[in-house]
Amino acid sequence: MLSFFETVNVYFEKAAALTEYPRGLLDLIKAPNAIYSVQFPVRTAKGYEVFQGWRIEHSHHRVPVKGGVRYAPTVDEDEVTALAALMTYKCAIVDVPFGGAKGGVKIDTKQYSAEDLEKITRRYTSELIKKNFMGPGVDVPAPDYGTGPREMAWMADTYGAFYPAAVDQLACVTGKPVTQGGIRGRVEATGRGVYYGLREACGDVDDMKRLGLERGLEGKRVVVQGLGNVGYHTACFCQEAGCVIIALAERDGAIHRPEGLDVEAVVKHQKATGSILNFPGAKNLTPTQRALELECDILIPAALENQLTAENAPRIRTKILAEAANGPTTAEAEKILLDRGVYVIPDVYLNAGGVTVSYFEWIKNLSHVRFGRVGKRFEEASHNRMVSAIEKATGRLFSDEERRRIARGPSEIDLVNSGLEETMIDAYQQIRELARRDSRITDLRTAAFLSALNKVATSYLELGIFP
Ligand code: NAD
Repeated sequence: MLSFFETVNVYFEKAAALTEYPRGLLDLIKAPNAIYSVQFPVRTAKGYEVFQGWRIEHSHHRVPVKGGVRYAPTVDEDEVTALAALMTYKCAIVDVPFGGAKGGVKIDTKQYSAEDLEKITRRYTSELIKKNFMGPGVDVPAPDYGTGPREMAWMADTYGAFYPAAVDQLACVTGKPVTQGGIRGRVEATGRGVYYGLREACGDVDDMKRLGLERGLEGKRVVVQGLGNVGYHTACFCQEAGCVIIALAERDGAIHRPEGLDVEAVVKHQKATGSILNFPGAKNLTPTQRALELECDILIPAALENQLTAENAPRIRTKILAEAANGPTTAEAEKILLDRGVYVIPDVYLNAGGVTVSYFEWIKNLSHVRFGRVGKRFEEASHNRMVSAIEKATGRLFSDEERRRIARGPSEIDLVNSGLEETMIDAYQQIRELARRDSRITDLRTAAFLSALNKVATSYLELGIFP
């Protein structure tokens, strides 16, 4: 089987073959620009331990570079490099002006207390700062698998201890809690972005007709793998939009109920019992991978990479594969699925909601002002004047409730969600249009990679690096 980074490069080369760029430029885009591998000691409850960590900056064509930090026992250099490369292409696809990067620590977080994790995170952060692999204009980490707002707050606080006078210090990391300089809507941004992307894809009558599906999300049967940050929020938004969540899969097993599962109720049950298994009214499926093979309209892997492989691809019975996780499908599996007519919405586009809202958070930190703060009241006043003018012209009086709804100025969360929605719609249409215009492109991933490649190549060419 190809490694994760090799898989990303297979996709890259498939798109590159459709271009006329010189080989040297393609190699420049493909290669990771800087790799930092570090071993650092921390005194945990078990005594002194040495941890292995990475920060890999894949592309400096734009700075700062950006990408999450992953904590998992399986983290290695190949995985972090692959994820960093995906970040480069992802940022380009959604027009977020960053290069790509990724970080990771090889650790099983379940084995450590919060105090130990704090020490490990702070030490890892110090190692990044020492080598200039972190900073608001250099490299800006964010959450990924195994990390969240708590870890980002520790990272920001550690950075602040090194640079207490830096006015831009909070922009050194995104995905922070709102009270620590974070932005409303970041936690659910990736899941919300997956939902916007799916809604856009399912809104295309011709594409849906080809798959034998009705237009829209309403009534679509959905399976979600992984109930963490991305999977949980994606499942909630899809359910809200009228999808029927027929199965949910976690590490220790999956549950299946053809009539639909209530995501919140499952999470409540999971909190109370420690597992999603034995949820009232649902059937247990073990091993958990069986959920991937259920007949459904939309399969959403939202856990980890390499979940759909040459081995299980022939048994996958979905019409749409929505890659919320990074790298859930191997190149071999993708070929099998495409040959069978599955519509694959690729990770490199679909889970870009997180980095999009991280970009908004970074701007907020640099500008030191909450989105909406300056203009909200002004807009409200001007909308109110318009409502009054309409009342005067038509003689129809609006109720207080109607007036409040029409005149309301946008708050931070309104603007974040609206910016995210616009970004996901616009990027989907860009890549769908590329695929429509060029008959050599038969899948959305190739279109997405081509879109990214064109943008990164243009930026190098305009820099004059490649005459
Ligand atoms: P997370 O740690 O919050 O959640 C992952 C969940 O998957 C956990 O609940 C875990 O128990 C579950 N899981 C692990 N192995 C599983 C298996 N074999 N079967 C079923 N469930 C399993 O992580 P996350 O932040 O939600 O990230 C999930 C994926 O989305 C990763 O590939 C990550 O790179 C990608 N992603 C995350 C973000 C983000 O903003 N967090 C952004 C873009 C992409």
